[in-house]
Amino acid sequence: MKLYNTLTRQKEEFIPREEGKVKMYVCGPTVYDYIHIGNARPYVVFDTVRRYLEYKGYEVTYVQNFTDVDDKIINRANKENSTMQEISNRFIEEAFHDADGLNVKRATVHPRVTQEMDGIIEMVKTLIDKGFAYEDNGTVYFDTKQFPEYGKLSKKNLDELIAGASERVTVDDAKKNSTDFVLWKPKKEGEPSWTSPWGEGRPGWHIECSVMAKHHLGETIDIHAGGEDLIFPHHENEIAQSEAANGCQFAKYWMHNGFITVDNEKMSKSLGNFFTVRDIAAQFPYEVIRFFILNGHYRSPINFSRELMQACQNGLERIKNARKELAFYIKNCADTKLTEKEQEQIADLEKYKEQFEAAMDDDFNTADAVSVIYELVRFSNIAVKGGVSKEYAQKIQDMLDHLCGVLGVAELKEDAVSDEDTAKIEELIAKRAEAKKAKDFATADAIRDELTAMGITIKDTRQGVQWFRG
Ligand code: AMP
Ligand code: ZN
Repeated sequence: MKLYNTLTRQKEEFIPREEGKVKMYVCGPTVYDYIHIGNARPYVVFDTVRRYLEYKGYEVTYVQNFTDVDDKIINRANKENSTMQEISNRFIEEAFHDADGLNVKRATVHPRVTQEMDGIIEMVKTLIDKGFAYEDNGTVYFDTKQFPEYGKLSKKNLDELIAGASERVTVDDAKKNSTDFVLWKPKKEGEPSWTSPWGEGRPGWHIECSVMAKHHLGETIDIHAGGEDLIFPHHENEIAQSEAANGCQFAKYWMHNGFITVDNEKMSKSLGNFFTVRDIAAQFPYEVIRFFILNGHYRSPINFSRELMQACQNGLERIKNARKELAFYIKNCADTKLTEKEQEQIADLEKYKEQFEAAMDDDFNTADAVSVIYELVRFSNIAVKGGVSKEYAQKIQDMLDHLCGVLGVAELKEDAVSDEDTAKIEELIAKRAEAKKAKDFATADAIRDELTAMGITIKDTRQGVQWFRG
């Protein structure tokens, strides 16, 4: 299995540090508003990476944080006459609501910065003790000059960075080098704060991830992930802090998803060109958003549009209809055993699995993996048309289950109607069959119309009546 490592800028064989186990950290959202679909991309992409690793037999410990201390949260709290805690609790709940809708599995741990203060203060102390950090008037800075490898992830040269930064207008005089960054900052009036050896204050942004990764996963982890905007400075700074404090490699593989764009510009709150997941979910089912994200390769940009969403919805329907059709044959076929021809074709079925795995093994190419699912759907539709045995329909269904499950898409249960609805539909179908038997076609047609009005399409087949939503 190969994955593209931002650290080396190449695809590498994936070998976790401990056999059979993967430790993975994904930077989570700052919780001051609903997540937009740009934020949803790392959620869905790295959830899929995790699912595939689990499918391969790895035991994955997956950590995704919530940034619940930040200027943006404080500003919103002030505006709404609320508290930082109230705002972050509210949007953590909302983020979970969206993540659940997107079929993103809960992380093993979802740490929050406010609950990690002791660890943060401890790491800042260590950095000062080891000579990697200095304090000035209640502010603690990381001394980038002390970490010669600074820039190794973003491939930036420290001296050039320093020269570039000094040309900018605002220069923080207390910093030794313009590239130094804040680990701890002093309290401002009216802001939440914690007691530290450098006075009342709160942590800078970058230190939190170094601390939470160490706390929940250990000093060296296998995969660290996030959106590509985090490569510099956030992830570069995380490496500097963690490797300076712990004296060992922080993360072996660095994975970054590309942007979701609108008119080819990054979707972001600051540009105002964003759509929240909640807004889009009012127009398309959540699962279409997930499918839309997985239709592209995670490192390529995706330009968001309604047309593309619509195309994804149609594609998803195709997959789900094939699955419903298979479910129908499994339920109603009289012939249970594989025919001779089917026995020959079983090998073809295995080929789809191989192709799917080959795509996923090649840096999680979900775009190609989705194409394999479409091909399997085509295969299924042809097989069903010619008549299938129960066992064969079951085998195709199992394969679809298998592959869709890895991507977390087209799961039938999401579309399931309530039991009450199902009972009513089946009762009407049975009544219609009786009416037809009694040659009472007026009643039979009336029942069909009633079902149509309920959004149910019916199809008469040799095996009985098949019904679909829509
Ligand atoms: P933020 O709340 O802005 O820190 O972002 C949370 C996560 O979403 C990070 O991993 C970002 O890199 C990612 N992200 C933000 N905007 C986009 C976008 N337009 N496309 C893809 N990923 C994004
Ligand atoms: Zn982070």
